[in-house]
Amino acid sequence: MGKLYDLLLQDVRFKEGLNACMNCGVCTAICPAAEFYKYDPREIIDTVQTKDEAKIEALMRSETIWYCGQCMSCKTRCPRGNTPAMVVMALRSVSQKLGYFTDSEKGRQQFAIKRTVGENILKYGYCVPTYAVTPEMHPEQGPIWSYINENIEEVMERLGANLRKPGPGSMREIHQSNLDELDRIFEVSGGHNLYNDIERFSEKKADEMGMEFKKEGTDNEYFRHVYTFNSGNHSRE
Ligand code: SF4
Ligand code: SF4
Repeated sequence: MGKLYDLLLQDVRFKEGLNACMNCGVCTAICPAAEFYKYDPREIIDTVQTKDEAKIEALMRSETIWYCGQCMSCKTRCPRGNTPAMVVMALRSVSQKLGYFTDSEKGRQQFAIKRTVGENILKYGYCVPTYAVTPEMHPEQGPIWSYINENIEEVMERLGANLRKPGPGSMREIHQSNLDELDRIFEVSGGHNLYNDIERFSEKKADEMGMEFKKEGTDNEYFRHVYTFNSGNHSRE
């Protein structure tokens, strides 16, 4: 058995997600991502089942594996009890571990997700706290977002939130002991290793692309590139 297939087999999601596929295409028929993107979960499962290392590597370097929205609709319909979404998760993990993700536009966006949502979890205990969604980074939120951002204390009080204060309620402060616990979970579950891999391979890619890269934050050319660039070559015609 080849190296990549072996790595996939070590992932419990892969073992749980793929029994034997009969290529019926029901997963693709139900898949919302397949309706909009150049994406076909049946084809992904079919490719993986061949155990052909070159084809699996090409898949891990492609845009394809990043289109799945993890809605799990495929899980509910597969007559063989497969879950293509979990196979996709395993493919993504190996792609991140080996640095293949930087070969695709959607894969490179992993770096932007790590520097924003990923780091927010460890810093604040929330993936997307309102105060971290800055208007400059999210023009799609419209002008009202600037008002909310500038008047966040007052707005959150009117909404009944407990913004960054101790005690219960939405938007409450997450105690340092809980943040430390989260950090430990990332340590033992491999989350920190994953983040380090994303950083390491992204820095290498930035160098190859001749772009400025900084070890922290979002104010650097490579971050701005992966965060904003869209080739427009992802949707079905
Ligand atoms: S629905 Fe299940 S059996 Fe059918 S193609 Fe998809 S994964 Fe294979
Ligand atoms: S989880 Fe992914 S592959 Fe499955 S139906 Fe949703 S978008 Fe499609």
